[in-house]
Amino acid sequence: MLSQLNTFISPAAIYMMPLEIESNRWRCSWLEDKVKVEYHRNDVWEYRGDYELIGNSCCTVCGSRTIVSKGQTFCTNPHHDRVTLDRAYIVGKYYKTGDPRFRDSLLSQHIIKLKNNHFFATPIALAMVLLVKNRYGHLQDFDTLVPVPSYRGKSDQGGQATSIADIVGYELDLAVEDILVKTSESKAVGMKAAERVEMIDNGTFALAEKSTTTKGKKVLLVDDTITTGSTASGCANVLRGSGAAEVSLLVAGKTWS
Ligand SMILES: [Zn+2]
Repeated sequence: MLSQLNTFISPAAIYMMPLEIESNRWRCSWLEDKVKVEYHRNDVWEYRGDYELIGNSCCTVCGSRTIVSKGQTFCTNPHHDRVTLDRAYIVGKYYKTGDPRFRDSLLSQHIIKLKNNHFFATPIALAMVLLVKNRYGHLQDFDTLVPVPSYRGKSDQGGQATSIADIVGYELDLAVEDILVKTSESKAVGMKAAERVEMIDNGTFALAEKSTTTKGKKVLLVDDTITTGSTASGCANVLRGSGAAEVSLLVAGKTWS
């Protein structure tokens, strides 16, 4: 009888789902297809805009656009088969600054600003928390959050992925472990997707300390953006090599072209 109770969702539990979350003067509200973003200043909540959620027509593993043909769904990412994540959990689409859609995408603007100003980690992280709590509740049972490092030779301490992961970890009561280092610089900017994928096998990432183990753990990588999935896959390979049972990715934006 007890096990049956565990799987039963009472109407009260549904009402307890957080539609709104607040931290560090930012407030995000869950509106099913978007997240409303507000900032508290001069005693009022200023409406900053909405993060549009990515929708269902994207690949659950790498976030790329999918197409349906003869009743079957296909991922359009030519490197999909080399993505080693279990799943990617994505807030919304990320348009680059040159894209005309950038101007209307608050999420893209905040992701760009985050690179120089960690102030913007808060609304992005709160939107991720709302996504987890309202749509992917099982992620709250993961063992640890691991930020994807941005710079060579060190962990992501002080980087944008860590600034997001710290807030998500606090809100979801999950440990944050900065256990990965980037061992060689990814020349990702201006590099063709195929070349980036090649780098997966070249030891781009490693464990910060040899003694670190993720044996049997469910690991949720955290990053600001995903493009082909090659960077996150490089991390996933290292974590699986140290025994991780599951490696998925929680990310703010899927680079969309
Ligand atoms: Zn895919």
